[in-house]
Amino acid sequence: MPLPKAELHLHIEGTLEPETAFALAARNGVTLPYADTDALREAYRFTDLQSFLDLYYALMDVLRTEQDFADLADAYLARAAAQGVRHAEIFFDPQAHLKRGVELGTVVEGLWRALGRSEQNHGVSTQLILCFLRDESADSALRTLRAAEPWLDRITGVGLDSAEVGHPPAKFREVFRAAADLGLRRVAHAGEEGPPQYITEALDVLGVERIDHGLRCMEDPALVDRLVRERIPLTVCPLSNVRLHTVASLAEHPLPAMLDAGLVCTVNSDDPAYFGGYAGDNFDAVRDTLGLTEEQLRTLARNSFLAAFLEHDEERRQRCLAEVEAYSFG
Ligand SMILES: [Zn+2]
Repeated sequence: MPLPKAELHLHIEGTLEPETAFALAARNGVTLPYADTDALREAYRFTDLQSFLDLYYALMDVLRTEQDFADLADAYLARAAAQGVRHAEIFFDPQAHLKRGVELGTVVEGLWRALGRSEQNHGVSTQLILCFLRDESADSALRTLRAAEPWLDRITGVGLDSAEVGHPPAKFREVFRAAADLGLRRVAHAGEEGPPQYITEALDVLGVERIDHGLRCMEDPALVDRLVRERIPLTVCPLSNVRLHTVASLAEHPLPAMLDAGLVCTVNSDDPAYFGGYAGDNFDAVRDTLGLTEEQLRTLARNSFLAAFLEHDEERRQRCLAEVEAYSFG
């Protein structure tokens, strides 16, 4: 039995496996510019974040109907459950769908078909987090939030993702304030490719409760002190960092140093279909390559439930935490 964990950094569009992409393309009459799944996998050799994003947005075109989104989410939840995920906070990118003519309702209702039955079908509780694309305008983000208002009962929070450099958090001050006024939780990608100051800005200007990635905090000891003192969770994605060359190799990943510094780290998969593994695969990779101890792995799992937006179901959080403490590695 795998170590129980919560996944807090997962883009549902990034769970599109090549086989599913071809199946949905056939179902929707979309022609993919790849001969077969092997040719597509070959295209997954990214040089940086932008080269990944180009393919990520191109492949999304196969997602057209509510059923497509439901099938995508259901496939992720089944895989996640098999790797010990008990709770998943799932990002989605409405702007990427809106601009190719897919309505927000199609996306949310489709995802909800799977999420609404996830506890019964997979034993995984879920939350949905609407992400703004930071390389789009602040106005576009605001319009997206307004368009999402009919579905706010199904959306727990907002996030900020896509190309980081040149798009500082402060650009989205207004939409994050509006989201807070609507009672939404707030997270943001920061310090993946962008500088440590973006992490500070996400906390101070956007009021985020968690930082997605956050690796580059290690360049600023005062920031590390603050993140430790304020117990700000960081949703680290080791295999993603390797594939996008944020770190030179997994062996050089700063996760052990981050844990030693007392940072509240969690381990997540980001875009698992593209980066070589789901949550459990990421745990296995950091155990095998970085030599994390059983107690460090238990800390990562404990942190994931402590950092989860489970305030509405503290009983579930405590039950999952108890499972983590009782878990025997073997
Ligand atoms: Zn991400």
